[in-house]
Amino acid sequence: MEDFITLQHRTTCYHCHEDTGQIITAVPNGAQVVCGNCGATRSYIPLIEDISKKGDYVRPGCYDIWNLVSAALCRQCKVKGPHDVTIGCRNFTVRCRNCGFTHLYRFNLEFIEDPGKPSG
Ligand SMILES: [Zn+2]
Ligand SMILES: [Zn+2]
Repeated sequence: MEDFITLQHRTTCYHCHEDTGQIITAVPNGAQVVCGNCGATRSYIPLIEDISKKGDYVRPGCYDIWNLVSAALCRQCKVKGPHDVTIGCRNFTVRCRNCGFTHLYRFNLEFIEDPGKPSG
């Protein structure tokens, strides 16, 4: 899988309640937010790819929306530049600031990764 977005956002984890780095990754076929402390993972699946206006897919009513920015290579305009990464409780969007091309992902499932578990 190609890299698209990789980010860290420091916040209080909804699961372990530690103030810790949440590791955010997005590629064209999916997106994830993983707690660096406990491994709590929220996974998102792609819904729409389209040109949008800023804020088009941001739904009001979510108490905790993360507004982040990451440099990425746009598949639409082929420019490497800032993309707005907006993560809400139900959706996840990545939007190219140059051309407005937006990946909208929908929340799919939540699970706990256990990286500390010894294998075997
Ligand atoms: Zn956690
Ligand atoms: Zn673009």
